[in-house]
Amino acid sequence: MNGIAGKTALVTGAGSGIGRASARRFAAEGANVVAADIATAEGRETVDRIRDAGGDATFVEVDVADTDSVENMVDVAVETYGSLEFAHNNAGILTDFVDVTGISEARWNRIIDVNLKGVWACLKAELPVMKSQGEGAIVNTASEAGLVGMPGLSSYSASKHGVVGLTKSVALEHAERGIRVNAVAPGPTKTNIQSGLLGDRPGGSTPSLRDRLRTALRLIRTAIRTVRADYDTSAMRDVPMGRIADPEEIAGAVAFLCSSDASYITGHTIPVDGGQAAD
Ligand code: NAD
Repeated sequence: MNGIAGKTALVTGAGSGIGRASARRFAAEGANVVAADIATAEGRETVDRIRDAGGDATFVEVDVADTDSVENMVDVAVETYGSLEFAHNNAGILTDFVDVTGISEARWNRIIDVNLKGVWACLKAELPVMKSQGEGAIVNTASEAGLVGMPGLSSYSASKHGVVGLTKSVALEHAERGIRVNAVAPGPTKTNIQSGLLGDRPGGSTPSLRDRLRTALRLIRTAIRTVRADYDTSAMRDVPMGRIADPEEIAGAVAFLCSSDASYITGHTIPVDGGQAAD
């Protein structure tokens, strides 16, 4: 990718899954990486892996739902590396499969606070730095659930539709200032997030690959069963490519959108979904 080496990339949710893959990809492209996560052990492990591979990375603990914590994260990034050219606002949590009437207010608020307000808080802290530099590229992690309805995942889907709208609006606000803002919409991806079915577990132990795959497949099967049994919709669909994504495949799209190869792309949400959105 062109235009990434020697610059600074901030990734939230960098302790696991898509965020870890993104942090490692930015480092492989020659960027200095600020790996931020609420889970300190996992975030530090990402940094260790980058350093072991010869890259430069720093860990920052952050709760993206807390604006003070997010401002501190951006301050640390700029103090450490002197600039901030790229941000991947990626941290997110999933919810239980439940009808909209069954969601507790606390659970609804936490999903929106992390997945939507968290992206807003990151943008609010990152953009002034990028504006002062006259350059920057931001990628927010939305979801397939931000493009179509997901029965049983209404709070998650609402939060991700919000990320898509936020991305468009902020991109328009900054299009003439040399700052691009896009989003990726991953389809089902092999990460820990499926354990959101069992509740938040930031900081918890990392399940084995076998367990994570089993959970991912259970999520998909549960979704399909839920649709067939309870909902009149075809929103949950099989993946045309016949497999779920590796996190590195989402990270590749993030790196592309930040690179100068994507210099004329802003305000868009790119599905990275094995063809799901086309079906
Ligand atoms: P993951 O659970 O493997 O990683 C999420 C990371 O975010 C974890 O390291 C977790 O500790 C961190 N995190 C959670 N709450 C946080 C908070 N408040 N502040 C800071 N960090 C926090 O899951 P993932 O699949 O890599 O998820 C990354 C993003 O991708 C999320 O926004 C998710 O909604 C989105 N996504 C995932 C899939 C999928 O199938 N895996 C599909 C579409 C979208």
